[in-house]
Amino acid sequence: MFGSKISRFAVAALLLFSMGGIAHAQHFAQHYDVVIAGGRVIDPETGLDAVRHIGISGDRIDVVSTQPLSGATVIDASGKIVVPGFVDLHTHGTTTISQQMQLLDGVTTALELELGTVKGEALADLYADGTASNFGASAGYMSARMLVKNGIILRSGTALPMPAGLKGIGSIIDYAINGFQEALAPTYQEKASADEISQINRVLAEELDKGALGIGLTLDYMSEAINEAELRAVFELAAARDVPLYIHIRRGINGDPAGLREVIDLAKQTGAAIHICHITHNAMVNLDLFLDEITVARNEGVDITVEVLPFEAGSTNIGAAVFRRDWRTIYGIDYGDVQRADTGAWFTEESFKAYQRDHPDAPIIHHYLNKGQTRRALSDPEMIIVSDLISITTLDKKVPPHNTAFTRVLDLFVKLEQIISLPDAISRMTLKPAQRLQKMAPAFARKGRLQTGADADIVVLDWDRLAHRASYQDPYAPTVGVEYVLVNGQVAVINGALVAAVKAGRLLTSLSE
Ligand SMILES: [Zn+2]
Repeated sequence: MFGSKISRFAVAALLLFSMGGIAHAQHFAQHYDVVIAGGRVIDPETGLDAVRHIGISGDRIDVVSTQPLSGATVIDASGKIVVPGFVDLHTHGTTTISQQMQLLDGVTTALELELGTVKGEALADLYADGTASNFGASAGYMSARMLVKNGIILRSGTALPMPAGLKGIGSIIDYAINGFQEALAPTYQEKASADEISQINRVLAEELDKGALGIGLTLDYMSEAINEAELRAVFELAAARDVPLYIHIRRGINGDPAGLREVIDLAKQTGAAIHICHITHNAMVNLDLFLDEITVARNEGVDITVEVLPFEAGSTNIGAAVFRRDWRTIYGIDYGDVQRADTGAWFTEESFKAYQRDHPDAPIIHHYLNKGQTRRALSDPEMIIVSDLISITTLDKKVPPHNTAFTRVLDLFVKLEQIISLPDAISRMTLKPAQRLQKMAPAFARKGRLQTGADADIVVLDWDRLAHRASYQDPYAPTVGVEYVLVNGQVAVINGALVAAVKAGRLLTSLSE
């Protein structure tokens, strides 16, 4: 079943061992479950970038060796690049199909940190028959607020009945983009009383007790509702619990830095750690200023990290709140920069208004960034790479091609344009996101590394063949050249093809060993 490139027994390697004498007796005695033989191994933490053989026992890397190894399964990686599995801090892809599409992009750990969830044990129910990749979630502020203000329990990835009169399949995103509707006004528009603020923070604290990976704060979606007192309270909670806040900051008119300054000031005052989501999509024309202010804050001692979603468009429903405001000024674009997600057709003022009136729940794609902004973000040495994938429920329904975010960076910005080096890009996809979490969640100290004792989450790339092919019209076209993907030592992608039966993922919490 493993195809021609894997032999069940590495005869050549064994011959080498028997000729190698006593120095290799130790290796000879070892027989690994899986061996990845002779690839260019990149470990961003130690700086290793050399041809090595990796021996895996069970779910861990046992050895990274200069000498050939023998194993029950041997993957010939000669001429290939071997890197840690990618750790995605920002995906909403909590369905099995989303995880599988992300596996084909090299993502072995897919985390829902921006929106998060409450009653996080529901996530485990979603995956009763196992998960394709490792997963985990933050405690979601929006979910906690909805529980307190609307009495609705939101569960990421779980379809819920929508309140009467609202459209959508009932995903958490559907609730977010229906925030302008009367039925959800308490969550999205009403101020919270002092008592409600403490209730919200009690819900979040309970989630943190159960191991939630920090607090997800989609502030922009609740911009009208949340005042300074409410915001300060959640910063104080994050500081007291020593967990990060993952923040979608308030958006003003194109490039207004007020939303960034607000959270940096609160981080300084409270000591909370903050992570700024999809920087290009919030900074827009003022990206240089935003990145400078983040660097200054970091140098002043603020625990601040930042991520980029490496695509130049946004996607939401045409009826979403922002498209009922002065969106052309906010984004600095016009009707002709927006297209239908289903057909790709571009709008005019007339067709936009008619479509918005008749199909408020229809997804659209609004192009408001350019590749120059993505390049600029990637040139920041601390920039973490994420997907911001919208949950895929069926391959018949298109979502933006964020399921290919990591290999788009590798193909377009590393291989073709050489904006950043390959080891640097790999570090931003593996080590840096793992480091963001490992202080609070020690299990992440074994992620994002190719070392003895690390989790065997591994990607083998055929660099010469690597080609990103997905587009907004064809979002599920997998990238060519992602040859093998291992999750906890099990081979989940073989010769570029998904092995759907492999469900080797695990729930990751702050309590995980
Ligand atoms: Zn966001």
